[in-house]
Amino acid sequence: MKAVELIKHGAPGQFRFCDLPDPLPGPGDVVLRVRACGLNRLDLWLEEGSLPIPISLPRIPGSEIAGEVAAVGADVSEWRTGDRVAVQSNLFCGQCEFCARGEEYLCLNGRLLGVQQDGGFAELVRVPARSLIRLPEKVGFAASAALTLAGSTAMHMLTHRAQVRPGDWVLAIGGAGGVGSSAIQIAKALGASVITTGSTDEKRRFALGLGADHALDSTRPEWPAEVRKLTGKRGVDLVVEHVGGEVLLQCFACLARGGTIVTCGATGGREVALKLWPFFVKEQKLVGSYGRNRKDIAAILEWAAQGRIKAATWRIFPLNRTPEAFAVLRQRQVLGKVVVEPQAAQGTLRKEG
Ligand SMILES: [Zn+2]
Repeated sequence: MKAVELIKHGAPGQFRFCDLPDPLPGPGDVVLRVRACGLNRLDLWLEEGSLPIPISLPRIPGSEIAGEVAAVGADVSEWRTGDRVAVQSNLFCGQCEFCARGEEYLCLNGRLLGVQQDGGFAELVRVPARSLIRLPEKVGFAASAALTLAGSTAMHMLTHRAQVRPGDWVLAIGGAGGVGSSAIQIAKALGASVITTGSTDEKRRFALGLGADHALDSTRPEWPAEVRKLTGKRGVDLVVEHVGGEVLLQCFACLARGGTIVTCGATGGREVALKLWPFFVKEQKLVGSYGRNRKDIAAILEWAAQGRIKAATWRIFPLNRTPEAFAVLRQRQVLGKVVVEPQAAQGTLRKEG
């Protein structure tokens, strides 16, 4: 099979487009023909070597996989060749206390697909059969690859780790990104008024196009004051945050009494000095969110099938141009999602959406 391997960490890292032996399924595995694989910040962290877990190279990155079952292991009875599927990339053991209660993202033996095990920037990938989710007929592979990870992360944050009540104010940080673009659409569908942020005019227009009611310039230091103004000084009920550092502290300045910040990232800084007095006096909540379970993925794909959420895909790259896809995501000029299609003709680049 053709595949793209990361062979050296860096920004940019060093990649190799190469031929590798086709993977074979173990007894409980399936091998998928990868039809589309989305790119995420996680891939950049792998590329840079900045993840707080040991990684061995070479590694095929790619965790947001949509494809067709090409081969099944001896013990797999529920899947057949040709089935269209998405993949839970938080690989889980299915045995531990947390898996037993359906919270596979907390698995004690969890592994990240495309990070600790070869992923989807290849023509074929081997995954455990228990990690598959059936793709609704109406959802295309590229749409699935744009929503499975980022969209389900947002779904997990907004419907599992926190709740949105109709009429709530929701602040979705970074509305042009994968998580932000989904968070806007989910919060709107649940009846909230949505404020978002973006660093350029183009990004703010894009976020407004997804349904955000207000889009603020995140490069202006007074944006949290603008949030308070928009909400009549009250602040928002829920913040969906994935930057960390200073941005997380700014989010507290936007938060109403009894409000919740749910966070799933720390690109902007992994340590913060939190002011505890207003935090407990206002009975605010800071909630961590990590990954998703298969229910969140099934939900986001079902929403896509019903037309309640749209995959915001920016560009689709062929496999041999995967390193360029990494580069554009790193430059932060992307509106929505970048997707790689391993079966696409080499060399061509498609626009979508
Ligand atoms: Zn487990």
